[in-house]
Amino acid sequence: MGRYTGPACRLCRREGMKLFLKGDRCRMAKCPVETGRPAPGMHGARPSKKSTEYGLQLREKQRMRRFYGLREGQFRLFYQRASLKRGVTGEMLLQMLEMRLDNLVYRLGFAPSRRAARQLVLHGHFTVNGRRADVPSMELKVGDKIDTKSRKQSQDAVKRSMDAASRELSPWLYIDKDALRGEVLKIPTREEIAPFVNEQLIVELYSK
Ligand code: SF4
Repeated sequence: MGRYTGPACRLCRREGMKLFLKGDRCRMAKCPVETGRPAPGMHGARPSKKSTEYGLQLREKQRMRRFYGLREGQFRLFYQRASLKRGVTGEMLLQMLEMRLDNLVYRLGFAPSRRAARQLVLHGHFTVNGRRADVPSMELKVGDKIDTKSRKQSQDAVKRSMDAASRELSPWLYIDKDALRGEVLKIPTREEIAPFVNEQLIVELYSK
């Protein structure tokens, strides 16, 4: 299945929570989740029926997948790789998703949203450790450095986002705002990754 290209707010309304898919506009009062718009579809405004266990697990998986902007197949692949790692699978999954290049570009404030970060990466505006990096799913390691290319187009795109960004920098990242450079200082702990989902439900879903 292809990538979802429809209205981003619709996804948040479906999940009943803010997924921050539209950058700084998500912090404004007119965000449809803030204004209380119901879930999309003709039955969206009806009180929802009590969810089954499976329904809850599925909802949680969809939330996380949409938050990071992944397709179903990509997400499942991440899960499979996380399940092979030593440690708590749900936590491993979150850490792996956080270390994706598009997510890091967003977390550093170089792009207003993960969607925009993905576009910037695809258009080749960054290097990782001095090498061209145009694959959004690339996973970085501790110590890796992300640099904005020196060409005017790249610098302008990132500066625009930095000027507008009002997000706090994640404590596991370092940023040099003048050089438009970022570095991964450490792997984030579960608490440092916003606990917006119950990842255990996702593990239960895929373990069936
Ligand atoms: Fe989601 Fe942002 Fe739209 Fe609000 S404004 S519904 S957070 S995408």
